[in-house]
Amino acid sequence: MNAPTPLHAASHKPQNHPLPFSFEFFPARNELMAHNLWRTVGQLELLNPAFFSMTYGALNSAREQSISAVATLCQQQSVPVAAHLTSAGHTRADMLATAQDFHAAGVRHIVALRGDAEGVPGAITDVAEMVTALRQVADFEISVAAYPEVHPQAASAAADLAHLKRKLDAGASRALTQYFFEADVFLRFRDNAVQAGIEHAIVPGILPVNNLEKVEAFSARCGAQVPAAFKQHFVGTESGSLEQQKIGIAHALELCETLRREGVEAMHFYTLNLPNMSFEVARHLGAGVDDARLQQAA
Ligand code: FAD
Repeated sequence: MNAPTPLHAASHKPQNHPLPFSFEFFPARNELMAHNLWRTVGQLELLNPAFFSMTYGALNSAREQSISAVATLCQQQSVPVAAHLTSAGHTRADMLATAQDFHAAGVRHIVALRGDAEGVPGAITDVAEMVTALRQVADFEISVAAYPEVHPQAASAAADLAHLKRKLDAGASRALTQYFFEADVFLRFRDNAVQAGIEHAIVPGILPVNNLEKVEAFSARCGAQVPAAFKQHFVGTESGSLEQQKIGIAHALELCETLRREGVEAMHFYTLNLPNMSFEVARHLGAGVDDARLQQAA
């Protein structure tokens, strides 16, 4: 694995059709985070991606923050916005009212999730039911979550896939996956999904790692494996250093290139609100800066 050499805007053809890439952000909680978030959004907007998505905090206190971040994202730039929304922790009525608020802000695409908050009486606990309910609020496009390495609460890999199929059949257009670090993990999952009768698009979640320690801690909670061979690349590097970022970019690029050779076109990037990282990966995959957007930004 070699670190890619820097790219220059002139080395890429401009493009007008949306790139089959999407980029995920989370709401900023302070000024520095806001600076990074909007810098990252500004860079990625130039690539003309299919959509941006904004995560939804599971705690009640994060509800207003998420709505405001989504509204700002809709107002400040022109890439379509998908709002994540979780059912756990809210009554059905509150969750649907939030979906209406998103719609009023200009959102036409929801990433429907259960989330990890404690259940409250009256909450929808089945995401398939949530998808059905959301489609009654408005003609939302809906994405749902999938787990190539099996969700930690799943009874089995087969049960996980059967549940995914129910969510998709309820009216979702695609599944966005949890991140993974080996192409085979995704390709096996895609094969198994087809075997289970799933015909919807399954879009791999790509995480360019900037801090191995933090990613290992998070992965232990969400059931994603951090393989020894992957960790080996980071030996002797400092957590969160520029060196780790370069390795993270090079690895994500190699992973995406392997997936592309296997016919995967769309990819969903977990940007971690970090300028440059997902941008660098997308540019090395051939994404050109859209001239029309560059002129708008000038
Ligand atoms: P579910 O669809 O309920 O799936 C969880 C697992 O439980 C399933 O895989 C299945 O095995 C089992 N299961 C659930 N219901 C049934 C059933 N009726 N029958 C059989 N098995 C069942 N979290 C946030 O808080 N905010 C976010 O913005 C956010 N964004 C995310 C984006 C993506 C792309 C991904 C992959 C995850 C995201 N998460 C987010 C994390 C997610 O909320 C957690 O992984 C949560 O534990 C599960 O959510 P889910 O929607 O996949 O739930």
